[in-house]
Amino acid sequence: MYDVIVANGEIIDGSGREAFCADIGVKKGKIVAIGRLNEQEALDRIDASGLTVSPGFIDIHCHSDALLFKTPHDVAKILQGVTTEIIGNCGLSAAPVNPETLELLKKYTAAIFAEGNLAWDWHSTGEFLDRLEKTQPLGNVVSLVGHGTVRIAVMGFDNRDPNASELAQMKYLVKEALSEGAFGLSSGLIYPPGVFSATPEMVELCRPVAEVGGLYATHMRNEGTWLIESVEETIQVSQQTGVAVEISHHKAAGRANWGKVDRSLAMMAQARDRGVDIHCDVYPYIASSTVLGALLPPWAQEGGTGAMLQRLADRACRRRMTTEFTTGLPGWDRFATGDNWESIVIASCGVNHDWEGETIASLAARRGQEPAEALFDILLAENGDVLMMAFVMCEADVATVLRHPLAMVGSDAIPSAGNPHPRFYGTFPRILCKYVREEKILTLPEAIRKMSALPAQKLGLKDRGLIQVGLAADIAVFDKMSVTDRAKYDDPCHYASGMDTVMVNGRVAVRKGRFTGELAGQVLRRA
Ligand SMILES: [Zn+2]
Repeated sequence: MYDVIVANGEIIDGSGREAFCADIGVKKGKIVAIGRLNEQEALDRIDASGLTVSPGFIDIHCHSDALLFKTPHDVAKILQGVTTEIIGNCGLSAAPVNPETLELLKKYTAAIFAEGNLAWDWHSTGEFLDRLEKTQPLGNVVSLVGHGTVRIAVMGFDNRDPNASELAQMKYLVKEALSEGAFGLSSGLIYPPGVFSATPEMVELCRPVAEVGGLYATHMRNEGTWLIESVEETIQVSQQTGVAVEISHHKAAGRANWGKVDRSLAMMAQARDRGVDIHCDVYPYIASSTVLGALLPPWAQEGGTGAMLQRLADRACRRRMTTEFTTGLPGWDRFATGDNWESIVIASCGVNHDWEGETIASLAARRGQEPAEALFDILLAENGDVLMMAFVMCEADVATVLRHPLAMVGSDAIPSAGNPHPRFYGTFPRILCKYVREEKILTLPEAIRKMSALPAQKLGLKDRGLIQVGLAADIAVFDKMSVTDRAKYDDPCHYASGMDTVMVNGRVAVRKGRFTGELAGQVLRRA
């Protein structure tokens, strides 16, 4: 007697091999049989006739950290077939916490962790994961420890190299996080305080990660003018430490840089030939999304949000920034300059919701201001907590990265109210709809591999990511002819359609396209 039989589906097992027809028997949360099970009995039988059955998707890169604590649970991800989310990315994690710098950490994470509910009543990663376990997540959760979070705990927002004792303390916090269940380290080298860190610091902090076979996921120092140099730095860190590395949301940002991904991907492939364990993730959109303050010159962001707001209110600082938006600064990529202000859309605000969905260019015109002045005023009015969408990529590059065998799919979704980036609602169905069915950029087995087995392998999740006997029964059942993302840039808040059934650890969380209320997720800890 099985708990569940998924019958008559066309199975794509995640390994990249072609589809085959079989039934799947599930018992005690695991896949226990694959074959003809039509004579067998089960407590529950899911008819997958005419449907595709694949491993549940693994969102290797997202920012659901705070959202996971929100009840009732948000169903945007499960309705995309996502059964495991990886949090703590881009240098931002909710642990470890040093009570003395907690206020700085809260400000650092405010915009990214806005949607959700963090109690901040933990210190270590282990305590954070215990707390998360108590909320009974909908899907499985894997956590990375954020370099920015670790650096704030030890040295606040100081713009300098750590001294020997500080570096040792940071290393200790990384080690502790790994020993308590984190799967690796993430960095966000464009954001303060990550931006203040030089390569040797990253090398030192990656050593303990390499020692335990963990993962280093990096939002690199630059994704535009100095993309190639940043990929080189990333390869160096891996080469010097042996750490397995993942370039986060790989892209070439800014028109002048389009096409550079050909070279960056070739560099990654060559590094692999030399034994460097390198991959990247990518989301299927030409707009990026992050905090609006990231548009400012780096000096203006020094010292955290409070210091940034002071500069924004200061006449001389505003003049200097306005000039630099035109002249540039060595080592700083301007994404907002000249006619580019049109490509920056305000996604979410805490106060002025009527600005959401509007470009900086149009808002400035409406207010009779220069775009830079409007930007400063928006940030001031919102205390710095504004998310933007920035149309900085091209379709050809997105397709090039997606097609590459080293690329995995990750949403990079930042849950937010207002007019959020559609990737939160649509990433995984969009791959199946736009990139597989419509544009045939990926085959279905290859697309599934990039969303299941490849990320599982990269994380060292040995019991997930494949339809295989003995593995956890995280399963997605969908209609490959109709699965569709319905979230648009200017109308994003729509759930995807076409997911018939989603199982998490053998329990049915989505049935006939609807959330069942089942909360079967597990907080996964690195063994
Ligand atoms: Zn990032």
